[in-house]
Amino acid sequence: MVFHIITLFPKLLESYLGDSILARAIKEGRIRVAFYNPRDFTTDKHHKADDRPYAGGPGMVMYAEPILRAVESINSKVQALRTKQASNNKGRKIQTYILSPSGEQFTNTGAAKFAKKQDGIILICGRYEGIDARVEKILRAKEISVGPYVLTGGELPAMIMIDA
Ligand code: SAM
Repeated sequence: MVFHIITLFPKLLESYLGDSILARAIKEGRIRVAFYNPRDFTTDKHHKADDRPYAGGPGMVMYAEPILRAVESINSKVQALRTKQASNNKGRKIQTYILSPSGEQFTNTGAAKFAKKQDGIILICGRYEGIDARVEKILRAKEISVGPYVLTGGELPAMIMIDA
């Protein structure tokens, strides 16, 4: 199973993945975790990844375009690999999830379903006031919450999903 994590702060996750059972799972090739920083998918010289909400409202949200480009790049890499491996999943897009406090509650049953049904998932970690709403619409992504509280970012929730 490959976890494609879109995050502005990959280092927050790297240390947790570098030790104990998850490090062993990676070493044994049971899971793979790949990071994509939206800043690497920007086109301006300041690599700006946040913007005012398109539909108005307070604060800043994560800008849609770099996230959409990151997802596009992941999907084309996955398709190329599946074609090379003559995989049965060829042509099937991998499911994208947006970590959000107002999403569907993540459960152990959900974790078991992911592990059984999917060979990879994309997790988008929000920051600031969240993620531009166009991302969910365009990608038809599902929102997932790890609990009824608001954290500062989606990195811990993504880590919980990988760990589970
Ligand atoms: N008002 C924003 C909202 O309702 O989405 C709060 C954004 S929060 C400060 C920043 C990011 O943290 C969110 O975009 C989300 O990715 C993540 N986050 C916070 N709490 C979460 C939770 N309980 N489950 C999953 N993700 C969460």
